[in-house]
Amino acid sequence: VVLVIGYISYKYLVTGPDIVNDAPPPPMSNSATAGNKNAMPEVNTRDPVEKMAAYKKNTIVFFGSQTGTAEDLASKLAKDLSSRLGLKTMTADLDDYDFNDFDKFPEKHLAVFVMASYGEGDPTDNAQEFYDFIKDPEFESGATELPDLNFTVFGLGNSSYEFFNKIGRDVHRRLGELGGKAVGPYGEGDDGTGTLEEDFMTWKEELCATLVSEWGLEEHEPVYEPTIDVTEEEIAPTSSDVYLGEPNLKHLLASKQKVMPPAPYTQSNPALAKVLAARNVFKGTDRQCIHMEFDATNLKYVTGDHLAFWPINSNVEIDRFFRAFGIKEPNQVIKISLIDCTSIIRVPSPTTYDTVVRHWLEINAPVSRSVLASVAPYAPSPEAKAKATKLASDKVLFAEEVTSKCYNIARLMLHISDNQPWDSVPFNFVIETIAPLQPRYYSISSSSLEDPSTISITAVVESSKPKNSDHEVKGVATNHILAMERRFSGHSDDSYELAGPRGQMTYDEHGVRGMIHVRHSLFKLPAKSTVPIIMVGAGTGVAPFRAFIRERGVMQSKGRECGPAMLFFGNRNRATDFLYEEEWPQYKDWLTVVTAFSRDCAEKVYVQHMLEKHSKEVNDLIMKGSMFYVCGDATKMARDVHKTLIRIIAKEQNLSREQAETIIRKMRSRDKYQEDVW
Ligand code: FAD
Repeated sequence: VVLVIGYISYKYLVTGPDIVNDAPPPPMSNSATAGNKNAMPEVNTRDPVEKMAAYKKNTIVFFGSQTGTAEDLASKLAKDLSSRLGLKTMTADLDDYDFNDFDKFPEKHLAVFVMASYGEGDPTDNAQEFYDFIKDPEFESGATELPDLNFTVFGLGNSSYEFFNKIGRDVHRRLGELGGKAVGPYGEGDDGTGTLEEDFMTWKEELCATLVSEWGLEEHEPVYEPTIDVTEEEIAPTSSDVYLGEPNLKHLLASKQKVMPPAPYTQSNPALAKVLAARNVFKGTDRQCIHMEFDATNLKYVTGDHLAFWPINSNVEIDRFFRAFGIKEPNQVIKISLIDCTSIIRVPSPTTYDTVVRHWLEINAPVSRSVLASVAPYAPSPEAKAKATKLASDKVLFAEEVTSKCYNIARLMLHISDNQPWDSVPFNFVIETIAPLQPRYYSISSSSLEDPSTISITAVVESSKPKNSDHEVKGVATNHILAMERRFSGHSDDSYELAGPRGQMTYDEHGVRGMIHVRHSLFKLPAKSTVPIIMVGAGTGVAPFRAFIRERGVMQSKGRECGPAMLFFGNRNRATDFLYEEEWPQYKDWLTVVTAFSRDCAEKVYVQHMLEKHSKEVNDLIMKGSMFYVCGDATKMARDVHKTLIRIIAKEQNLSREQAETIIRKMRSRDKYQEDVW
């Protein structure tokens, strides 16, 4: 009965023309559908309505994503709405579509928007055009409204930022103003409180309940419906056609010829940059903070930009993953093809199991309840299945037994099954369920004016043993950077496969390369060197300020006058973590460095305390038109600094709190108050 009703409601939802047969392949496909008998023909259009019709979809899940989280949640939602409610779903990168004909969005179809807010309440790069368009849309037909649009929005944000979830809220409001009908509640996730995944699950349940009660859909026991196919191929892994970690065809061809891939270097075509210098800038401690310099020839950057570093997974976590999933022949060549052309797959193939796990999947991240719920049916024993299902369905138990113990997926699976492998999990499920491995961003700590062909970063190595956990947790990228530093300094290190695809990432005895690209940022020095600057940076938050200070130093050496600058720097101990201490004295004519070392005295001192202590000087500079920059921890430091500045301005200028807040708001709108926080 369920199936029949489900079929009727689903058939009722589906409209649209026949499938178009002869369209060229989409850019990311790598001929991914070739040879797959089950695949639909590919349709190349930037009109979402036309695409949905061509593929007989009734639900489109758009994402505005910067770091990949919104994309991952959108993809999981599309799969859930399909397997639980029988909707015909597709995911869609907002950047891949134009919205001029969106007023033709068919009745009884659904558009979902999973929208991250970024920086100071800005849209993500891939959502910028859509966001601008809906402010004042000009539809091709001359219509001004979206009367048939059924929509729902989930915003991803961080409550540490002033403009929390601005984009999700704006899109929800604007689509409503344009006449769209909101389906279910607007949802919001908060990364600042660490509840994003749970917030998303709660919203998703409410959306599903609405679709059942108001749209008459039937709910099914979810079953995995693959949108990609993985087949083992009779090709040697050494064949020059097999991708071994090369991100695209240009890299593969360069690998074959043992040359560097050609510029321009972008997010889809990263550079393989030589490490020119690497050292630990913490002194005499077991913690490490790596200053690393990359050869930036052919990479364009401007002081204040970010460097994206493409990490790989560590050998120990890859081995654990293979054990958990029972992968015995990691070097077996596989081909990945699309069954559903609307799904987005970024892994080029043919490739190997090892390559996918090493280069493409975020295997080390904390495991989420939804991932555990979807893998539970594949447990190797009834006991393990019951345990996994119970943990996945109980939010409190999951928090106690899984989250607080910092399990990643493989560690959790092996824990649940008493080390038995879960070898019936299909590999297409693995690729579709584990989030894609993302580049990590670093504030560039070098000045492009001083040296446009070198980019440096300052990265603190993430490694700790949380109190409830029986193991150390390590960051993926920073431990990869540490392994590179060790090789560069002549130490042996086998924690990461540094040689990379076909040995392209190492050379000579100690030479090593990193896969990188530059992301432009709005965090910038004022054009005039005489404008005063106040910089507040805790820990590696000092990185862009090193770049700013060195840039002004170069300007000074060229005869330009430099306005006064104050650097408020905080860390744990002066003796070990005073980053770049030896560099500051040369700028003493115009630079004042104020430090806050939280563990050097009985009472903890942070940058905001020192800011308050220097209240008068800070206010004087602000009255002279100073820029105010904050960089580092978003969760606490940036908020505390903001509150402190309100107090300083109120006190020194004898104003009310509200008046001081207005001054800071104006500073922000004129780009005089800038944050680079994470
Ligand atoms: P990840 O693997 O991403 O892990 C993140 C954290 O989770 C780590 O603390 C890790 O120990 C912990 N963890 C790992 N596994 C688990 C688990 N199973 N359960 C629970 N916890 C776990 N950082 C800098 O050092 N310097 C900079 O200049 C800098 N600039 C930045 C600029 C921007 C714009 C942004 C967005 C970020 C910046 N960062 C900077 C942060 C940086 O991008 C990385 O987030 C950081 O280096 C950690 O990356 P990772 O891959 O080592 O850790």
